[in-house]
Amino acid sequence: MKIAFIGLGNMGGPMALNLQKAGHTLSAFDLSAEACRKFAAEGLAVAASAAAAVEGAEVVISMLPASAHVEGLYLGGDGLLQKIPAGALVIDSSTIAAATSRKLAEAGAARGVAVIDAPVSGGTGGAIAGTLTFMVGGSEADLERARPVLEKMGANIFHAGAAGAGQTVKICNNMLLGILMIGTSEAIALGVANGLDPKVLSEIMRRSSGGNWALEKYNPLPGVMENAPASKGYAGGFGTDLMLKDLGLAQENAAAVRASTPLGGLARNLYAAHSLGGHGALDFSSVIKLVQARAA
Ligand code: NAD
Repeated sequence: MKIAFIGLGNMGGPMALNLQKAGHTLSAFDLSAEACRKFAAEGLAVAASAAAAVEGAEVVISMLPASAHVEGLYLGGDGLLQKIPAGALVIDSSTIAAATSRKLAEAGAARGVAVIDAPVSGGTGGAIAGTLTFMVGGSEADLERARPVLEKMGANIFHAGAAGAGQTVKICNNMLLGILMIGTSEAIALGVANGLDPKVLSEIMRRSSGGNWALEKYNPLPGVMENAPASKGYAGGFGTDLMLKDLGLAQENAAAVRASTPLGGLARNLYAAHSLGGHGALDFSSVIKLVQARAA
């Protein structure tokens, strides 16, 4: 199958490599010349532009930061939707506003291009290992078309509902993740301030009623988990500013449906303060710096 892949960042790059390893013919593109160089060196065929990448494509996958990037890429008179072959399937895996996903699906339908929203969970580790969870919004039939491709990048594929539903599930999940990372950070910082060994403390909590994904796979304190972003200077991973974006989407959505999300709102403000402190590009688990005791 000929697949165009747009957006070779922390997530998109490894996802594209997994598709190539599975035997698909890929044509990839990123606006960043550095990202293109990095993945070309790993064997990906990189096109000169997004328009060149989608020539003859049966499936187009995008993994971009936010709604504005997705709208900017696909929509408008000169947008990529006008250049994608009719009959092709677009899988947008970026985490964006559900309303933007619906707009894209409608614009695609008008051109005979099927579109599904398929945001992911599982972090960069899941992207590399091909074990992501996909949360799909769109028709059952389009999901079945996408399934053989999604299976090469993920271990769990869920149908959330109609267009945009994948995004709604994703922001519910990420609001919970943002909150639990701060709670986990507070608990670890409290234990360490009491002189506890953070590895011992983390292991006991992991196997007790406080156990959660951060303690399982993504401990926020450097040195506790060798492969977590915390132990790599908070480089790569899931950027604080991306988490801030997702918590903003959750708050906008909550306002629209008059839901009460007080901890989601507090978490958004804490990540905003952390970003203003100059940590926007660091992995979101660096939020522990807000509650960690400083060395005298
Ligand atoms: P990233 O910033 O590392 O990568 C995004 C890439 O998109 C960049 O390389 C950028 O140059 C490229 N780009 C932006 N606009 C473009 C355009 N018009 N054409 C081509 N390339 C363009 O981000 P990421 O961490 O890979 O995240 C991507 C999406 O996945 C975000 O929506 C994020 O919220 C979501 N997500 C990330 C993680 C994670 O752990 N990093 C986990 C789940 C979901």
